[in-house]
Amino acid sequence: MTHRVAIVGAGPSGFYAADGLLRTRPDLRIDLIDRLPTPFGLVRAGVAPDHQGTKAIVRQFERLLAQPDVRFAGNVEIGRDLSWEELQAGYDAVIVATGMVIDRKLGVPGEELPFVWGSWRFVAWLNGHPDFRQGPDLSAVKRVAVIGNGNVALDVARVLAKSVDEMTKSDIVPEAGAAIAAAPLTDIYVIGRRGPEHASFTGNELAEMGRLSRAVAVADPAALAVEAPAHDPTLERLRKVKNLEILKGFARNVPGGKPITVHFVFNQPTAAIDPDEFDLVVTCIGYCGVEFPKGEGVFPVGWAKRGPTGTIPTNRADSHGVAQQVIAWLKERDPKSGPDPLPLSVDVAGWHRIDKAEVAAGAKLGRPRVKLTDWKALLDTAEG
Ligand code: NAP
Repeated sequence: MTHRVAIVGAGPSGFYAADGLLRTRPDLRIDLIDRLPTPFGLVRAGVAPDHQGTKAIVRQFERLLAQPDVRFAGNVEIGRDLSWEELQAGYDAVIVATGMVIDRKLGVPGEELPFVWGSWRFVAWLNGHPDFRQGPDLSAVKRVAVIGNGNVALDVARVLAKSVDEMTKSDIVPEAGAAIAAAPLTDIYVIGRRGPEHASFTGNELAEMGRLSRAVAVADPAALAVEAPAHDPTLERLRKVKNLEILKGFARNVPGGKPITVHFVFNQPTAAIDPDEFDLVVTCIGYCGVEFPKGEGVFPVGWAKRGPTGTIPTNRADSHGVAQQVIAWLKERDPKSGPDPLPLSVDVAGWHRIDKAEVAAGAKLGRPRVKLTDWKALLDTAEG
């Protein structure tokens, strides 16, 4: 008899927690539970569809799913198919890796207007999340405001700005790709409430904005006459120095030199959304999570633990640390006996049927995959 661990949320921090557990306790039985019929969480639904290099991390996660005592349990919602109490009663430890999947609100007048989208909803649409199949109407969208100065803001601006050719190797859902290609876009404003010395962009992502075939990135040089805060830790300061250099390069570009101009605008807090200014507004200002019970034997990881910051690799070290806490907790306890607590679910074979169908549909178009975006199609395909 061995311990059973449930990991709720089959995204990166959940997989890294499983990895951390198995490195020390290869005998553990681990169930990776997700409310979607597909694994990989933010990698599938949140990482921008043109960043396939980042998405390649799923190969490592697939190796974990191939372990005999690791089960994937898709289409299982805690609170619907299994209560938190049943989960805690049935497993020796529960790891909560549910991430943060609710758009934070600006809290300003006009935010509820239909052309204002939160980045989670917008990016989930690009990525074929089955709960977000309806995208914004882009048919008359010329001017876009992207509010926020983090990497998600860059993802949104970049995917809107890229040409069809630049997106061919992506797994953007075809409807979203077609809507962006057909939109009469001319100007995208990436708007920060503070100065460029506070932006949380990372260098590679910011520099990519200067290499787009149908868009030119520009910035006002006056806003760039600042320095990275001296009190920042060295790595943080170096990141900001690099950002400022890249932005100064953008400031030398000529607006209108290509069909789309991406304007980096700083020191402009949003007090209200004015329908006369923009045709589409995407807020990229962070996320909130859903509540889960805290208590003995429950271990949050990733964004559910730390909030919505940090890249995928950041979560590896964090999840490995939590895995060690779980192992210490299990050491003090005998494994629970009792029936298998896992309800009927989409298992790994079901996920692989979905994967195969998506990859085959993509191959016909020279793309990595074309995602199934409809719940029924996903579940029917998983059943085979
Ligand atoms: P983020 O880096 O925390 O950026 C959030 C931005 O929203 C900040 O610029 C923040 O400004 C701004 N903001 C917050 N509240 C605001 C308000 N009321 N009005 C105006 N602006 C507001 O978060 P993120 O972009 O959502 O990214 C989340 C994490 O995922 C980050 O760690 C990011 O690096 C990572 N990520 C990585 C990649 C990649 O590596 N390619 C891609 C996407 C995301 P203040 O600084 O003034 O608060």
